[in-house]
Amino acid sequence: DPTRETLGFQAEVRQLLRLVIHSLYSNKEIFLRELISNASDACDKLRFEALSDPALYEGDHDLKIRVFVDKAARTLTISDNGIGMSRAEVIENIGTIARSGTREFLEKLTGDQAKDAHLIGQFGVGFYSSFIVADRVTLITRRAGLAPEHGVKWESTGEGEYTLENVEKTGHGTDVILHLREGEDEFLEPWRLRAIIHKYSDHIALPILMKKEGSDEEERVNQASALWARPKSEITPEQYEAFYKHVAHAFEPPLAYVHSKVEGKQEYTLLLYIPQHAPFDLWDRQQRHGIKLYVRRVFIMEDMEKLMPHYLRFVRGVIDSNDLPLNVSREILQHSRDIDAIRAGATRKVLDLLEDLAANEKEKYARFWKEFGRVLKEGLGEDFANRERLARLLRFTSTASEGDAQDVSLADYVARMKEGQDKIYYVTADSYAAAKTSPHLEVFRKKGVEVLLLSDRVDEWMLSYLHEFEGKPLASVAKGELDLGKLADEAEKKTHQEDAEQFKDLVARIKEALGDAVKDVRVSQRLTESAACLVTGEHEMSMNLERLLKAAGQ
Ligand code: ADP
Ligand code: MG
Repeated sequence: DPTRETLGFQAEVRQLLRLVIHSLYSNKEIFLRELISNASDACDKLRFEALSDPALYEGDHDLKIRVFVDKAARTLTISDNGIGMSRAEVIENIGTIARSGTREFLEKLTGDQAKDAHLIGQFGVGFYSSFIVADRVTLITRRAGLAPEHGVKWESTGEGEYTLENVEKTGHGTDVILHLREGEDEFLEPWRLRAIIHKYSDHIALPILMKKEGSDEEERVNQASALWARPKSEITPEQYEAFYKHVAHAFEPPLAYVHSKVEGKQEYTLLLYIPQHAPFDLWDRQQRHGIKLYVRRVFIMEDMEKLMPHYLRFVRGVIDSNDLPLNVSREILQHSRDIDAIRAGATRKVLDLLEDLAANEKEKYARFWKEFGRVLKEGLGEDFANRERLARLLRFTSTASEGDAQDVSLADYVARMKEGQDKIYYVTADSYAAAKTSPHLEVFRKKGVEVLLLSDRVDEWMLSYLHEFEGKPLASVAKGELDLGKLADEAEKKTHQEDAEQFKDLVARIKEALGDAVKDVRVSQRLTESAACLVTGEHEMSMNLERLLKAAGQ
């Protein structure tokens, strides 16, 4: 066969395959959830593409997923009539991992099954999970719109190589045929498969069909209605969780979710989730997943910019609009006021959820903050409308904290301010240790005044948008003439003046010796133990920011 070729998996894929089999084995039944999830995505994609090109259906509008077994051949097949794949797409989607950071990710794995399982899950390894139970997998697919002879057969034993050849395939879509490993015969039992589908895939909006016992007739084994459109009271926590795993391509439960029907000018339903862990590509501009937009249950597209602000890019889920036209295109979305209104409303819902966690589920909020706090801080500069709400959600570590955990809110700080204190003091540094041992803190320590210790990279940037909280200005302890305001007592002011007088000559000599290296030399109240420290001018860039910019080559 001249169309047949043998190709090697990308090295990373090989490594990942071994890891998937090893770390997910204890929960092996999830392979079925993953394959059904892919089949459902493929049908969503076909429906979307067919909005502008109905011929893609090839007369077959009844999108569905079929699961069937051949006990004699010991195979289990998951079949869909979705979008399918071309030969190039098979190579691209199944043989390679086109994601930056793959190698670094693989290095992070610990060998601990439970920990690795969720890391691997983030990676979108759904298809490879078939090798947990199969020693050979055959995938037969044809992209909708291509002629039947452009079908493609992909086959692999999951050990480094796969074969590809062209085959004739009448219907569009994909069949995944699992040749079960020795000892995995449970997955040939219809009752077992039904139970797995019920447990993990009941939320899938398309019908999942299986043959009736002892007959050739097929029947639907899931509810086949969009989960988010069902009444809240009829959805179990397990179903919310299962849907999250599908929509977010996740392997662990979400941290929190909000499910809400918004009525008003724009009517839409949203079901949004906050993951437990940051994806490893949180800082990668080319993130693969985002929020799925539906219009009256029809999948339109997955987008991360139009439906959520950048600082909430970790949110996953669906928004289903009642009002948008079905033929919305990416271009229309780009300038749609309706979309802007939906995005603003959805943003508020996420902030409501976070506020609720912060107030009522502190432990969860702490976990959220640890994973996503640095991203949320970006919001101060990005989302002016919600700046105050965001400021209340911020958490810092401070000189009053036990360790480096960021658990002090600005409201906590303000509540603890000393009599006579009118500013919120902070110090920035490039590490927690450097912030904590900064000589600038000496006088504050002496006076028992709390200082926020800021050492995240984003902090300097955030501070340029956060000037005050509840009327109290934020002040760097390392900038300008230290003005302790009413915190300085009269006696101290007097000694300060006397000191300045007494050391005038010394100051002049130091100034001369240092020449252009410094702008000024002053006698300071800042220090109680150290002899000298560097400060920056009131309106100048902080030294820490300067360091960061230098490191970034600017
Ligand atoms: P993910 O679903 O997170 O993208 P998977 O490993 O589950 O990762 O699937 C990899 C890719 O293979 C999918 O993104 C999709 O492009 C393609 N794919 C998998 N199954 C199907 C299918 N049934 N129909 C069409 N494309 C598929
Ligand atoms: Mg998948």
